[in-house]
Amino acid sequence: MTSALIVIDVQNDFCPGGALEVARGDQIVAPINQMIDEASLIILSQDWHPKNHTSFADNHEGSTPFDVIEMGYGSQTLWPSHCVMGTYGAEFHPLLNTSRANAIIRKGATPMIDSYSTFFENDRKTPTGLSGLLRERGAKSLTLVGLATDFCVAFSALDAISQGFDVNIPLHACRAIDNQGSLEDALRKLKLNGVRLT
Ligand SMILES: [Zn+2]
Repeated sequence: MTSALIVIDVQNDFCPGGALEVARGDQIVAPINQMIDEASLIILSQDWHPKNHTSFADNHEGSTPFDVIEMGYGSQTLWPSHCVMGTYGAEFHPLLNTSRANAIIRKGATPMIDSYSTFFENDRKTPTGLSGLLRERGAKSLTLVGLATDFCVAFSALDAISQGFDVNIPLHACRAIDNQGSLEDALRKLKLNGVRLT
């Protein structure tokens, strides 16, 4: 069974000092680099938004980060502006070993829709192309690591399960935002859906 390592959103804006920093997000770079050294199929994902992206509180008058609004595709948490395409914040952490990556999936580039998952945008319908790439490369078993456990990693894992992949999340190589119980909620859903947490 061929396995793939999916490294999710290890970008400057999600690391300490970034626009949407995840506490101790930079601590996972070393363990992830070790996993990259040992993996044969490596996919990196990159949150990649235009300035006018709908997930930014700045683009909704009177809103502040972490407010939740209703969009056509469901609830949307509003975030500080982050990972704006082409900026330093959107670049990978400088110590992440990107040289062995087979592919980079960029997500969240459509202004009116967010994309937590690296498989589908938040409408759960628009694919990024990752499923097809993994299938054509013969991957069946996926290891997901990165930022943040309770959003982009969790949403990606649930979509991976729905796409028929076997999913493992080594939690030492992930860090969470953990806003209002979001981590506990995510871990419960992951277990319920058959994701292996190690
Ligand atoms: Zn984003």
